[in-house]
Amino acid sequence: MKTRSVLESVSPYNPPRLREEISVDHGSERYVKLTMNELSFGPLPEARAAIVETLSRAGRYPDRDATPLREAIARANPGLSPDNVVVGNGSSETLVDLMQILERPGEVVIPWPSFPFYVSAARVVGLNARKVTLDGHHRVDLDAMLAAVTDETRAIIVCNPNNPSGTYLPLAEVRRFAEALPEGVLVILDEAYYDFVDDPAYAGSHGLVLQSENVVSTRTFSKVHGLAGFRVGYGLAPRRLADLVWSTHVPFSVNQAGQAAAAASMGQPEAIAGRSRLMKRERERVQDAFGAAGLEYVPSHTNFVMVGAKPRLFEKTGVLVREGEALGYPVGWSRVTIGGPEENDRLLAALG
Ligand SMILES: *Cc1c(COP(=O)(O)O)cnc(C)c1O
Repeated sequence: MKTRSVLESVSPYNPPRLREEISVDHGSERYVKLTMNELSFGPLPEARAAIVETLSRAGRYPDRDATPLREAIARANPGLSPDNVVVGNGSSETLVDLMQILERPGEVVIPWPSFPFYVSAARVVGLNARKVTLDGHHRVDLDAMLAAVTDETRAIIVCNPNNPSGTYLPLAEVRRFAEALPEGVLVILDEAYYDFVDDPAYAGSHGLVLQSENVVSTRTFSKVHGLAGFRVGYGLAPRRLADLVWSTHVPFSVNQAGQAAAAASMGQPEAIAGRSRLMKRERERVQDAFGAAGLEYVPSHTNFVMVGAKPRLFEKTGVLVREGEALGYPVGWSRVTIGGPEENDRLLAALG
């Protein structure tokens, strides 16, 4: 069979390592899983009710255009219309849909360490990924990214806040960067952790999207909305790009329950803001404890923290975290998802 040789260099998703002696039973309380930046609380009650309600329609295809969901997302981003909103089976699918609109061959410039999926997604669609190292403060280095642009550059991804370092860039810096780029380069702002950033100088990229022809922001229901299992993400895009993305999109990829749950969750901004406040308080508590224990960490603006400790330290109290070396950090670092208060108590008990 003639298959594409580039696929030999695409590693399948490398899931969090589970040490042999720890066989994780997802239904049990024996281990706390703080490996994948999910929210321990799951969906809001309104989203749960919406999921149940869709059961009676499960024999039918979902709304192909996801209209109520796109309207709910547009309402939350003043100035945008549903025509500026594309949805996907997780923002991962939206990222792939975006890469599919780009001319090939070509390159996608990405920060590193960052979300490993950028690399495999680029290769699968026939693009190269060019990695640009974070700056000395673990931040996306916009000057170095700008310097990496060539005639081959089709897109630049700014993961903001960046996973796995947890650092962010204010909107004014992102805007200057976008304006300095050639218009032919697509700027993808991956804002999966949008709701966890406190600084008012961060928010508002939808305004930049509206004023531009080449800036797209992607967000997800997998994190603060607690809907990772239902796979819903979205992109905010200038109209022309949104239309192109829909043309590459697999029809009906966002299922009915996910659409309904996401729309219901989007309708509860107070509850979502309350969750993100709780997660920020817990993040500060965890970071303070890391500091008091003499551990180095990268001050985070997300629901996870990069810390200079091996996963084995936390396994003592039955807590699983992600090993740094799987994410481009050196051995001896771990990415710790902030859990609920009791899960974090257990995490911190390992420091004692
Ligand atoms: C979690 C995450 C996503 C979201 O993925 P989904 O496909 O929406 O679940 C996207 N980008 C980054 C950087 C992430 O950490």
